[in-house]
Amino acid sequence: MTTVSDPISRPFVEGLARGVLCYQRCMDCDAAQKLARYACRSCGSTRLEWQDSVGGGTVFATSVVARAPSDAYKALVPYTLVLVDLDEGARLMGHAEPGVAIGERVTAGFFEHEGRRLIRFRRA
Ligand SMILES: [Zn+2]
Repeated sequence: MTTVSDPISRPFVEGLARGVLCYQRCMDCDAAQKLARYACRSCGSTRLEWQDSVGGGTVFATSVVARAPSDAYKALVPYTLVLVDLDEGARLMGHAEPGVAIGERVTAGFFEHEGRRLIRFRRA
C-alpha cells in the first residue's frame, strides 16, 4: 500500500484522520472522480477539488482476502474488501463486514490497524 506517501491522495488520508471520506469533484463539469486523479475523467479539466462524503453508498464489488499482502495484515485475514459507489458518485475501496453483497447499501466506518486508520463499511 503506497497510499500514505502518494501526494495526490494526501487529502484522502487527511480526511480519514478526521473520520471523513473525501473524494474529488471536477470544478468545471461537476463529475465525481472514481479514483484520485490529476485530471477529470469526464472533461479533462485539472480543476479538481476534494469534498467530504457523507459516507453512504452501494457495494459495487466484493472479494475475500485469505492471504495477507504483507505482515501488517496477517492479523486481519480472512477479511472482506469492497468497492463502493458513494452516493456522491465516487468509487473507493475499503474493508467491509463479512458477507456483504453486491448491491447492498453500506455506511462507512473506520478502524485502527498498525497505526493506520482504515475504512470498514457496514450494512446501512
Ligand atoms: Zn470535468
